[in-house]
Amino acid sequence: MLRRVAILSALTVIQLSSFAQGRFDDVVIKDYKLTDNIYMLEGSGGNVGIYINDDEVLMIDDQFAPLSDKLKAKIKELSGGKTTRLINTHWHGDHSGGNENFAKDGAMIFAHENVRGRMSKEVVRGDRVTPPSPDIALPVVTFKEGMQLYIMDEPVIITHVHRAHTDGDSFVFFPESNVLHMGDCFFHKRFPFIDLNSGGSIDGVISAAEAALMLVDDNTQIIPGHGPMATKSDLVIYHAFLTATKNKVVDHINNGGTLESLDPSKITEGYEAWTWGFINAEKISQTIFNSLSSED
Ligand SMILES: [Zn+2]
Repeated sequence: MLRRVAILSALTVIQLSSFAQGRFDDVVIKDYKLTDNIYMLEGSGGNVGIYINDDEVLMIDDQFAPLSDKLKAKIKELSGGKTTRLINTHWHGDHSGGNENFAKDGAMIFAHENVRGRMSKEVVRGDRVTPPSPDIALPVVTFKEGMQLYIMDEPVIITHVHRAHTDGDSFVFFPESNVLHMGDCFFHKRFPFIDLNSGGSIDGVISAAEAALMLVDDNTQIIPGHGPMATKSDLVIYHAFLTATKNKVVDHINNGGTLESLDPSKITEGYEAWTWGFINAEKISQTIFNSLSSED
């Protein structure tokens, strides 16, 4: 019996790992040219931004580790070179999973200090356990509020936003190219994931959207963490969704409502098309409820 259990669990491991591998085998990295120097890359996981010039490649987020070779091949095709600097918008594995592979190629990694903090140790979220990352995968330049760097003469402004999708989110803005990468502070045309277990909050996500709206104009090209390229008007719609759903949940709480009596279809009315695999109406409504209920 024990042996059979062992064989069965071995089979499960094989099936799971081949499933994971298979999932990435079919991924094709697509590139979208935004300016002469900036591209958005789409594969599986968070959207990647790259800024290329004759000498350097600055990369924003790097998806999952099994995709690193495909991303490197695409970057080589577009730039002729490889990533020299890498910014993580936050710690989640679909945005920082390739860190080790890019660092081994010589990329210097930048991120908010809480990204390094969370990646340095085991993180337990419900029944999900994320082991600590190896030292080489950790950001080597960290900041608290933000920083400015230059890639040749192009300024790059990195701005931290407090307790939004996580407690370590940053925007990356190229003011001269008028391109903004928002990481997971912006899920375009889909319900957002707000990671309360990593210090995220609904109020922070709303403040982040407001901060981004102050940076952009009608010509800004916005790279969302997930979803297609966006503009200011898309971000205005996202902000309206966030505030409307939050206000409905606040009303529910003020009327003595509980998590159990929350009606997700009413909370998210008008945004049904934003349901996707990971986050449905119930999940986002409950997340907002839990976020508001846990406020100090
Ligand atoms: Zn994320």
